[in-house]
Amino acid sequence: MNKSIVYFQQVTNSRDKVQVASSFKSLIKLSGLLDDFRKGELVPVKIHMGEKGNTGHVDARVAKVVIDKLKSKAAKPFITETNVLYQGSRVNAVDHLLLASVHGFDPVSLGAPVIIADGLWGENALDVKINKKHFESVSIARPVMYFDSIVSIAHVTGHLLSGFAASLKNMGMGLASRAGKLRQHSNIKPHVKTGNCTFCKRCIKHCPVKAIIEKQDKAFITPVCIGCGECISACQFGAIADDYGEEAKVFSEKMVEYAYGVLLNIKKKVFFNFALHVTKNCDCMAKDELFIVDDIGIFASSDPVACDKAAADMVVKHAGEDVFKKVYPRADFYMNQLKYAEGIGLGKMDYELVSAR
Ligand code: SF4
Ligand code: SF4
Repeated sequence: MNKSIVYFQQVTNSRDKVQVASSFKSLIKLSGLLDDFRKGELVPVKIHMGEKGNTGHVDARVAKVVIDKLKSKAAKPFITETNVLYQGSRVNAVDHLLLASVHGFDPVSLGAPVIIADGLWGENALDVKINKKHFESVSIARPVMYFDSIVSIAHVTGHLLSGFAASLKNMGMGLASRAGKLRQHSNIKPHVKTGNCTFCKRCIKHCPVKAIIEKQDKAFITPVCIGCGECISACQFGAIADDYGEEAKVFSEKMVEYAYGVLLNIKKKVFFNFALHVTKNCDCMAKDELFIVDDIGIFASSDPVACDKAAADMVVKHAGEDVFKKVYPRADFYMNQLKYAEGIGLGKMDYELVSAR
């Protein structure tokens, strides 16, 4: 079996955006992955533009390197993203675009528009047949069905449920409709460990569906819960169970099946993974988070599984331990995410790394 090629460019200081952009340019040149785009072609560039207050997401000035390269081919790139499940600044397209613009993702600075693919409220969705273990069909943002190509720019992070997040999550969760995001989370049912609960009510404020109520001076999660996981991150007392085992496995596999549905009809695919400012949580966190490993660099491939595997391997090697497993011991991302993705034909775990000199 042939190996997938993954290109790698080292970056040592993610705070220096000029250095990151210049290194990204070198990687794009080395990989040649953006050379094949044609005049007039609409090219979606999928990127997480960061929750309000988040500092880890890939910077707009860095994403612009892709826009400029595609425009040099006379293609017509645009940034795309979908609305989120939880309360915050990205729950509808208006707030989402306003925040994106604050983060530098505006048409004037970028030279390309930003399009929220699932519409004003996440209503612009379509079911795609996949016939896999968890889903017969997946609900994704409707325009995705008309994409001929996609360029994914993903930030490598840990993740509460999947353990590890990069290209597969950028596709599977990132381009799912709101209904699709709900379906992926539906097996996650947290509960309050009453002994730890101080009833600070923080989780109540964060819950998007008002599923948390007071019961005997403690928080209590009712069956209204949609399993979004927001309360787990919100609680500062470790009072909401995050000891998922089987549930996290099912979540990861569902996310991978969504990535499969998203990519099913797309012919030209390019994935970039930024293993820079790697944090415990994904960019949905509304805060500046500590690095869990030093800056490593950027990966590029046409295979999302290989790209994710290479980034995860390098982070683990660099840290001298599996930092993702350390922060989320129950989330076996190698098996539940990468191996599962390989098993359903999304790509290969086996890769050859081509490093820039
Ligand atoms: S955030 Fe944690 S401590 Fe505060 S009420 Fe909710 S469960 Fe209890
Ligand atoms: S209880 Fe927690 S997991 Fe359930 S919907 Fe509310 S915030 Fe999300």
